[in-house]
Amino acid sequence: MRIILLGAPGSGKGTQAEKITAKHNIAHISTGDLLRAEVSAGTELGVKAKAIMDAGQLVSDDIMLGMVRSRLQADDCEKGFMLDGFPRTEVQAVGLDAMLAELGQPIDTVLFFEVPFDEITNRLLGRGRADDNEETIRSRLAVYEAQTKPLVAYYESKSLLKNVDGLGEMDEIATRIEAALA
Ligand code: ADP
Repeated sequence: MRIILLGAPGSGKGTQAEKITAKHNIAHISTGDLLRAEVSAGTELGVKAKAIMDAGQLVSDDIMLGMVRSRLQADDCEKGFMLDGFPRTEVQAVGLDAMLAELGQPIDTVLFFEVPFDEITNRLLGRGRADDNEETIRSRLAVYEAQTKPLVAYYESKSLLKNVDGLGEMDEIATRIEAALA
């Protein structure tokens, strides 16, 4: 099973990704977590990435594609994987398609988390992560609208998209996801 989770920052992707990957025993690939690990480790990439993340901007497509390419080569991805927070741009989506075609491992389903804009803003403000101040949130949501939202149409045209109502209790949403995957 190979899945992409698509949705705005704060749409609940990370929480649900933990649940689904544990249940289906597939690898959880969160590019946000991979980047935060680089930041914690103080690598050259981490130092560069931190400034970009704190500003609510996107790390370059080349870096992200390279990071995902090497992550997909790990053994735990053989059973399947879930991409969480990637792709975030059309360049990343097209690059991912090429990569997965090469590996003979196409995506089965793209789950799109639908959460109203106001709710997302409130959730992000309440979360209190370093990149969750009001100004950063504004730019992350603007970046999402401009760069990531168009991927909904991209995957719809490939008949891979399934919408998931992202409002409600965590367990309720998990049940909706399982129904979408069944
Ligand atoms: P959220 O889902 O709350 O936005 P993430 O953990 O997915 O949080 O991402 C945090 C930050 O890491 C993003 O705002 C962005 O700066 C960077 N990032 C994560 N994934 C990508 C990606 N695929 N392309 C570019 N930047 C990314």
